[in-house]
This record gives sequence, C-alpha cells and structure tokens, in this order.
Amino acid sequence: MARDPRYDILFEPVDIGPLRARNRFYQVPHCSGMGYRHPRAEARMRGVKAEGGWAVISTQECSIHWSGDYEPSPDALLWDDRDIPALALMAEAVHEHGALAAIELTHNGPMAGNLYSRVPPLAPSHTPVDDPDPVQARAMTKTDIANLRAWHRKAALRARDAGFDIIYVYAGHDLSLPMQFISRRWNHRSDEYGGSLENRARLFRELIEDTREAVGERCAVAVRFAVDELLGPGGITADGEGREVVEMLAELPDLWDVNVSNWNNDSTTSRFEREGNQEKYTAFVKQVTSKPVVGVGRFTSPDTMVSQIKRGVLDFIGAARPSIADPFLPKKIEEGRPEDIRECIGCNVCVSGERRIVPMRCTQNPTVGEEWRRDWHPERIAPSSSQDKVLVIGAGPAGLECARALGERGYAVTLAEAGDELGGRVTRESRLPGLAEWARVRDYRVSQLARMPQVEVYRDSRLSVEHVLEFGFPRVVIATGAHWRRDGVGRTNRVPIPGSPAGNVYTPDDVMDGVPIAGPVVLFDDDHAYLGGVLAEELRSRGLDVTLVTPLAQVSVWTWATLEQFRIQSQLMNAGVGVATCRNLTAIDPNGVELACIYTGARSRIEAASVVLVTARLPDDELFLALESDAEKRADAGIRHLECIGDAHAPSLIAAAVYAGHRYARECDEPVTDEIPFRRELVAIND
Ligand code: ADP
Ligand code: SF4
Repeated sequence: MARDPRYDILFEPVDIGPLRARNRFYQVPHCSGMGYRHPRAEARMRGVKAEGGWAVISTQECSIHWSGDYEPSPDALLWDDRDIPALALMAEAVHEHGALAAIELTHNGPMAGNLYSRVPPLAPSHTPVDDPDPVQARAMTKTDIANLRAWHRKAALRARDAGFDIIYVYAGHDLSLPMQFISRRWNHRSDEYGGSLENRARLFRELIEDTREAVGERCAVAVRFAVDELLGPGGITADGEGREVVEMLAELPDLWDVNVSNWNNDSTTSRFEREGNQEKYTAFVKQVTSKPVVGVGRFTSPDTMVSQIKRGVLDFIGAARPSIADPFLPKKIEEGRPEDIRECIGCNVCVSGERRIVPMRCTQNPTVGEEWRRDWHPERIAPSSSQDKVLVIGAGPAGLECARALGERGYAVTLAEAGDELGGRVTRESRLPGLAEWARVRDYRVSQLARMPQVEVYRDSRLSVEHVLEFGFPRVVIATGAHWRRDGVGRTNRVPIPGSPAGNVYTPDDVMDGVPIAGPVVLFDDDHAYLGGVLAEELRSRGLDVTLVTPLAQVSVWTWATLEQFRIQSQLMNAGVGVATCRNLTAIDPNGVELACIYTGARSRIEAASVVLVTARLPDDELFLALESDAEKRADAGIRHLECIGDAHAPSLIAAAVYAGHRYARECDEPVTDEIPFRRELVAIND
C-alpha cells in the first residue's frame, strides 16, 4: 500500500553534521539489560530496529572508564581496545540495514559505588553515591578533570574505530558527570568548574569540543541534555538554567537530544503521563539552535509525530519504548499500514529488565531480547509445517497472541472465549485508573486476527471437556487464565488467614467486576506489583475510606522496577488513602482486621466493613487437568497435542502471558529435546 502523503514529512532526510539520516525516526539511547554481557543479543536487537526503518540507532550508556563502573548493570563498555569488537558487532548490524549508529559515552561519577573496580567514585564535590551503598565519591581534582577529558577522547576514538557514526556527550539524566557539574545540587566547587553557570557548564563544553576535535571529521557529535529536572527552582529548569545551557552551547554540537531528568521523569508510564508529555519542557530548544533536535514522548501516533515536526517542536521523532514495542514502526508508516503498529502501552516492563539486571522483555513485543538467542524476528515467522487445526481456549493476552501468531504462520485456528468480550485480564485491568492504554495489548491482536480468514473467534463460548473432545482438533491450547485467591495465602501468609474467606472479604476480581463494596475498606497487598495500589486508587475514587496494608516498607514495591513506586505512593497518599506499612494481616472478623508488626509482632486493629485481599492467584486449569488426566479420551478424540499456557499454567505478568502464547505458536511443531532452548553468550577464556 502507498504511504499516506500526510506522513511524507516523516521520511525527509535530515543532516546531522557531516552525516545524513535517511528519515526522522531516531532510536534514542536506551538500556536493554544486555550490554557487554550479551553483545550478540544486543547487536541483533538493534539491527532489527535498523531493518524496521529507524534512521539512527543508539546504544545504551557506554562507560568510558573503569573509574565509573555501573556494576551490576551490564551496560556497554569502552574501557580499552578489547571492548571494540563487541560494540563493532552492533555498528555493523545497524549499518547492514542502512541506519546510522550512535553511541552514548558516559561516566556516571557518583551514581554507583564502583562495586567492581573498587576505586572511590568521582564527583564534582564530596558526596555519598546515589545507590544506598555506604560509599562516598570524592571531589575531582583538576588532574582528575584532565584525566576524564583524556578518557572521553580515547573512548570517542575507539567508538569511531568500532564504526559508530554519532558520538554522544552525555548530560541527560542526573547520572552523568557533565550534568552533575552543571547542577548546583551536585557542584559546590569554587574553582573555574564551579560557581557561575558558565563555569559549571565548562566540563560539558570541553567534552563537546574535545570530541569534535578527536572524531569530528568523520563522526557527528551529539549531546543529550536534560533541560528540566522537575525539581522546581532547586534544580535545572527549562525556563531557567536548562534554557541558558542550550543557549550558551547552541551551535557547538551537531545535534541536540533533549529530555527531562531523572529517569523516573523521562520514562514515565502511561499511568502518569500521555504521549508527547515532554513537549512543554523541550519545545524551546529548536528556537535557540539551528542544529537538529530530537526529543521523546512515547510517540506511537504518526499524526502526533507529524504535528511535532510541523509545529517546529522537533526535527527527529525520538523513541525508546515505541521502538521496543514495534521495531518496524517506521516501515509500517512508510508502507501505508500504520494500523499494523504494535503500540507501546507505557507499562515499563522493558525498564524492569535493566532494573533487575536481565535482558529486557516487552509486554507488546514478545520477540524482544529473543532476536539472537532464539532467532525470533518481530515480523517474520516460519510458515506452518502441518495442516493441524488448533483450538485455543481463552482469549486473554496468552490466547490472543497464540492465535495471532499461529494465524500468521498459516494455521487454521479456532479461538473460543467464555465471555462476551476479548482480552481477558488486560481488558479488565485497562478499566482501572490510568491503565486505559493497556487495552492496546488486546486491540492490536484483535485487529490482526480480524484480517486472518483462517482464524475464527467465538465469544460467549465457555468450553467443557466434552466440547473440546467434540472439536477433535489435533492441537488444543488452554489459555483460561487465573483468579485471585480469597483466603489470603501469599508471600507472607503461606496458610489461609483466619476469618477468610467470609462475606466481607473481596478479591481484585470482585473489584474489577464492580461488585458493590462497602467502606471503610482495608486492602491487604501482599502481591507488591501494581495491582494493589491501582485498586486502592479505584476504591478511593468511588468515595470509600481506604487503608492499604502491606508487610513491606513501601506500597507496590515491585514498581520500583517500572520507575513508578514514588509516584504511586505519593498519589495514593495525596488521594487520602491510608497507608500502613510493615504490617501483616493476621485475622479477619466481621468488623475489621487484626494486624501484626512484621518486626515486633505488636498487635493493632483497623475497623473495616470490607477487606480486599491482593495476595496471590490460582490458575483456572480445571479444563486442562481434566483433559490431561485422560490420555485415552484425548487419543480417541484425535487430540495429539495438549498444552496449558499463560496464567492458566502459572500466573505472572501480562508480558509473560503474551510471551507464552507467542512461544507456543513458534515452537509447537518443533521436536522436544533436552537441549537448552536458547543460545547463550559464553565467556571467552582467552585473555
Ligand atoms: P492470560 O493472561 O493467561 O491470557 P486471562 O485471564 O487474561 O489469562 O484470560 C483468560 C481468558 O480465558 C478469559 O477471557 C476467560 O474468560 C477465558 N476462559 C476461561 N475459561 C474458559 C473456557 N472454559 N472456555 C473458553 N474461555 C475460557
Ligand atoms: Fe512499551 Fe511496555 Fe513494551 Fe516497554 S514493555 S516497550 S513500556 S509496551
């Protein structure tokens, strides 16, 4: 199909210093949880995006020197020449598909404790490091500053030799030395690197000049700079020092990549910010520089992108998460099929990979992180190897993705759903406060299925064992989901809580089903992911008096990994939700709950009309177990393969259910072996 001419502007080439980008789609630096430990996986993942049409593909943070190590995070490294080949793999993969390769050179100073290199971290001024390790960074001497400049220069030369086209000087987020020098919060110096803004920006300026001098003939020099820290006058602001820095250095780099700091504010989830949310901070930049400007805002809509360009906000549409959820986003717009875009839902499950120090995964794109190790491509899948008909039962995230990917392979699929709506838990959860965009997980798959004549979707079709046997399809996939427990069993209470279940005890399913619940409510969150906090917010929005009780010290602790914990807890407290931390729920009675301090056992009580237990789920696997236990009946009916996937197999994240559905579709006709089912990057014993 031809491209919609409205989007032509997105495909104009743009010059960056001595280089030309083929269009305006720019994958800004983002971490992947792979880095130097998984270089082949990293290279393939980036190469796939280049194939998907992005004009520029950036690395994640690349540490320039061992005095600023980020361990245990596995980001990129350029400490000496031996680090070049791993990064060269990525540059080659990106070039193979006609994109420019950018590298983000960083020295994070006092953000981490140098747990690997064991040298005191460096900082503009004496300060404890940002991580809670009992480590202090020391104030850099002039010699240290000169050394830093030399290391940065060497790293730039190595990056050029590795094949990179665009070399970044990094002052985005507060986790980089140039940014810390600029910031009055970090920089208390009284020499020519402290005091006035000009002095504080000196190091940034010098690094840009050094980089240009070292590699400027062949490479473009980009900067990433956070123009606002969202700290008000105490920090850098877009109408204060942020703007002044851009004005001061306006024409020095070849490209301005601008964002907000810190990472929690930059990669906000859809629960808290909408597409294009950074415009209010970064829009001024194009007015003060003639150099191309890239900015981010979880852009997935081509109309919004065009608007950003036409209104003179940005020259490049920067993207990290939208490029993870759909590496082929530019190609899909270019080929006139924007409806095929697998839109990012802004859940930050990808970010949780880096935070938990494992290769990232994505709720929408099950192939991410699997490009090399399983050879999965986001847009290509092997054709079916048989005429087997497949019955998929349950149209939640697992069943929908399974049916979609099987359909893409050419299998004839029947998808049966008990309810009158598709999407399972994702549909229900997307109705909770702030989670509307999560419905994209359903919408993308439902719209793809609608175009597959060989896939039939039946609603209001709760299948029994007899029904399944009657179908007699050779392949049956059970994706019937899970339900929340009503007895309080979970991480803290391994046996049922006394008094549960009872008439005043409710589950998250009840809340999502709109069952009437009387206040005051105690919500006991022993799950620690997002749902307990969201449900407390939902119940509060119904005008109920709500107290969230958790055995941990913070609300929704796991959401630290999705950069949301602080926002969630402050939002709940501001909404008037009571928060009782470090307390276990030990008994429920008709008038309230008994609590015990997890440290001292001290007892307390909260009067409540209702109790919502967010503790654990149980798989809805009766159908699977009944079929599984009767091999004879299965054989008689012609069922040769039976599989249980997603939450019905073991409750987990939506991302895990999508992944399980995809994996079944990819691997259902592969031989079962004892081999490890993916490639590993083994450490080379050769130096
Ligand atoms: P997952 O996250 O694993 O996809 P969900 O709970 O989101 O799980 O989705 C499971 C879906 O399966 C729900 O929409 C549910 O209505 C449906 N379902 C459960 N049991 C049956 C059944 N026996 N027949 C058809 N559909 C079922
Ligand atoms: Fe977007 Fe979520 Fe995928 Fe991250 S994990 S790219 S936020 S859909």
